[in-house]
Amino acid sequence: TKANIGVVGMAVMGSNLARNLAHHGYRVAVFNRTYAKTQTLIAEHGDEGEFIASEHIEDFVASIAEPRAIICMVKAGGPTDATIEELLPLLSPGDVIMDGGNAFFRDTIRREKYVSGKGFHFVGAGISGGEVGALTGPSIMPGGTPESYRILGPMLETISAHYEGEPCCAWMGPDGAGHFVKMIHNGIEYSDMQVIGEAYELLKAVGLSNQECAQTFASWNEGELSSYLVEIAAEVLRQKDPRTGKDFIDIVADRAQMKGTGTWTVQTALELGVATTGIGEAVFARAESSLDELRAAGRTALKGPDRTVSVNDRDAFIENIRKALWCSKVVSYSQGFDEIRAGGAEFGWDIDVAEAAKIWRAGCIIRAELLEQIRQEYSTDPKLVSFMAAPSIAPKMAEYQDAWRSVVAAAVTAGVPAPVFSATLAYYDAARAPRVNAALTQGLRDLFGSHTYERIDDHGHFHLEWSGDRSETRID
Ligand code: NDP
Repeated sequence: TKANIGVVGMAVMGSNLARNLAHHGYRVAVFNRTYAKTQTLIAEHGDEGEFIASEHIEDFVASIAEPRAIICMVKAGGPTDATIEELLPLLSPGDVIMDGGNAFFRDTIRREKYVSGKGFHFVGAGISGGEVGALTGPSIMPGGTPESYRILGPMLETISAHYEGEPCCAWMGPDGAGHFVKMIHNGIEYSDMQVIGEAYELLKAVGLSNQECAQTFASWNEGELSSYLVEIAAEVLRQKDPRTGKDFIDIVADRAQMKGTGTWTVQTALELGVATTGIGEAVFARAESSLDELRAAGRTALKGPDRTVSVNDRDAFIENIRKALWCSKVVSYSQGFDEIRAGGAEFGWDIDVAEAAKIWRAGCIIRAELLEQIRQEYSTDPKLVSFMAAPSIAPKMAEYQDAWRSVVAAAVTAGVPAPVFSATLAYYDAARAPRVNAALTQGLRDLFGSHTYERIDDHGHFHLEWSGDRSETRID
């Protein structure tokens, strides 16, 4: 009998997804360019379920029942295109290729067009949860045709994580929609991690040891900040270095690396005109952390306070940091969801933002208590303008803002960099201000470049004769 589904790419993600499928009773065809990896999977895990291993891609494709569902889990970029090229001549009309790698959504749009032009379905699916998630239940964000989801969807929903019985997998929309949503997920992951790091620096600045910081994060994880990243922050801070016995965190080089999904999120936000400042600051913070020469020059030449925060009531300040973390997280998520909505409109996907929140509640890296609240708010009001202004959120932002402001003020005074704490607060204040400085910007632009301005008391665009008699001309 033939396989229910095939998986190409037997590195960590592909082999764990194949095992997850097999654990759920599916017969899984497996293939890898280098056959030895397929053999290793079968030798080590072949008894966990039904696998059909093939050395050659022709045999692999022939071993799958039609219409075929083939998950491609190879290195993102060129290897994905190469694998698609190898599969295409072997497929039958109606077969589905799913790319589960971290593809850029514009590549997915291109691939979907190409593959569907040849009579097959192409699904771009974001998968989050790392290697453990792939094995035990990831969050899956598929995009493609509704027909392709009818073939693949039931299997993906079965192997995905579940939140109170509901699968963390749902159809996000056509072509690039799934990878777009995954991109935003990763962007939010950047801001979450950065703001957790800023909280850690401030906890240290009031004198907490790494172990006390770990304990603080662990206790925060019991409340409204409950999330995977806060939970594992405690775990990382608690860890000892196996070589020296020192705190692990203190022997890790202080330069954050990145693979590009955060950058894509910010680039796309700039193109869409969405102000994802939390994610943007997080990406720039990683970049600055790795500018060795700048940091060496700065340590020598740039003077300032010594990063010590003096407070009368340390516990009260720690509680303020907790509240600031919650507020900044709300703003970053709010901005990320705004980008999903803007992208959905721009690319014609009409993404249901409540569905995106729903499938991030478990399995993925940014899983957090807050996501259930986001899902509820967007379900109740699909036209909700901004999550931070939602009925259940805005009053709490109002209540927590003094704490948030005191944390940003303390960071600035002590010289502790807190770019996400402060940028998200500035975004909140800009959103609620009756006027920001945009009118002056427009005045300057009209003076030096005749770029025109709009009026508060009339429609149309106007220009002032700055170098003449300063009379006003209506442009349109
Ligand atoms: P890698 O990204 O390390 O890719 C290795 C796999 O790609 C191997 O199976 C390799 O085959 C295959 N491959 C590389 N080049 C080619 C090629 N030119 N033609 C055919 N096959 C090729 O594996 P991961 O398991 O880490 O990730 C797979 C995908 O999942 C990636 O797109 C990644 O971004 C994404 N992802 C990864 C996550 C993670 O936590 N690691 C989380 C979520 C998504 P061979 O053995 O022959 O070299």
